[in-house]
Amino acid sequence: MSNLRRALTRARSGAGQAIESEAEPHMRALIVGGGVIGTSIAYHLAAKGADVIVIERTAIACAASGKSGGFLAMDWCDGTPLMHLARRSFALHAELADECNGEWGYRRMTTYGGVLGRSSTSAPRGARPGWLSPNISIHGQLGSMDTTAQVQPAAFTAGMMRAAEARGAELRLGSVTGLLQRGEDVVGVDLDGEVLEGDAVVIAMGPWSVLAAQWLSLPPVFGLKGHSVVFATGTAIPSEALFLEYAEDTGSILSPEIFPRADGTTYVCAISSESPLPIEPDLVVPDDGAIDRLKALCARISPILASSRVLSSQACFRPVTQDGLPLIGAIPGAPGAYVATGHSVWGILNAPATGEAVAELILDGATRAVDITSFDPARLEAVDPGRITLTRRRLG
Ligand SMILES: Cc1cc2nc3c(=O)[nH]c(=O)nc-3n(C[C@H](O)[C@H](O)[C@H](O)COP(=O)(O)OP(=O)(O)OC[C@H]3O[C@@H](n4cnc5c(N)ncnc54)[C@H](O)[C@@H]3O)c2cc1C
Repeated sequence: MSNLRRALTRARSGAGQAIESEAEPHMRALIVGGGVIGTSIAYHLAAKGADVIVIERTAIACAASGKSGGFLAMDWCDGTPLMHLARRSFALHAELADECNGEWGYRRMTTYGGVLGRSSTSAPRGARPGWLSPNISIHGQLGSMDTTAQVQPAAFTAGMMRAAEARGAELRLGSVTGLLQRGEDVVGVDLDGEVLEGDAVVIAMGPWSVLAAQWLSLPPVFGLKGHSVVFATGTAIPSEALFLEYAEDTGSILSPEIFPRADGTTYVCAISSESPLPIEPDLVVPDDGAIDRLKALCARISPILASSRVLSSQACFRPVTQDGLPLIGAIPGAPGAYVATGHSVWGILNAPATGEAVAELILDGATRAVDITSFDPARLEAVDPGRITLTRRRLG
């Protein structure tokens, strides 16, 4: 009996948490990518008794998972195929913060929407909290303490890895450069020239998952760049999230998002671009002029932001697919291989239920908590591997 078959039998018989004889090998899952998706899958697999190795080429949360807003909304995906994934994830975020003694700044918050006018007289009239500039008008409440929340995403991602490690998972630093296949079966990865065998391999490489289309039949994944600045604001800004709209003199519409955090910092993101994705995650840097433009915008939003110390100025790429929905599931034509990426602007929100679903799929053969049919990677046409080589060369 193969390791995998034995492990599946064990998992299906509910023995995932039970003590086993030393002779019985565990099912071993290799997860490529230490972002919020990879570490969340690792946590759920390890919690169900699998042996897990997370392989990360740079550092845990080095990419979008460490540089995003960390904003969570229960019902903003209602009416879309993401609804159940988002609602389940929102509930799991609250549970995880409790169960894992999460030190990642999870808290509920009220959320407002508003408009930033070009001058103090051009904003529509409306109520305005005192910390905001007079040229801002709040036009409505977008979420309540029941429906919106936040985490510090780098801390959450690291927290998921720690929680997985506490359940036996292992982190290996290194770059996966290919797969090990026996016939069609995917039975391991090539890790910097070393072969690492496993019963299941999960591609969770964020926007770099496009490179895995050289090894497997995968639809395209693109990286869309976003910029952000983190300020040290102490207690000067109340714990309320704010989504604004602003028309620059050039006619560009910007949609800054402002998230004060429990650790006394305030995160502001805006300014997207279609700059090419560098092959190395640690080569991602802000576009020329983007941070100055963002800081100028922040100074218009609030005098507190104008005078606060900047702790980081950064950029990252969120992974997106052709139809805007994530790819979650078994990869067609490659038994043993799975993918979880393309979560776009909701990767931090949707990581917990994605992790749970992938763990169920690998260990139980089907998902229970959330139906992931809409995210089946087989719904989209696979990339022609010949084009990836070109893209790779151009990106490099
Ligand atoms: C500006 C901005 C703000 C955002 N705000 C929010 C928000 O408020 N709420 C929300 O829910 N979402 C938000 N998002 C989206 C969210 O950040 C992403 O969807 C999520 O972080 C994607 O996680 P990931 O694990 O798929 O990818 P990543 O975080 O990109 O992680 C992929 C990892 O794979 C590793 N890797 C790549 N190739 C290899 C290889 N060959 N071998 C080993 N490792 C490899 C990389 O080093 C990286 O660490 C935001 C995104 C951006 C850009």
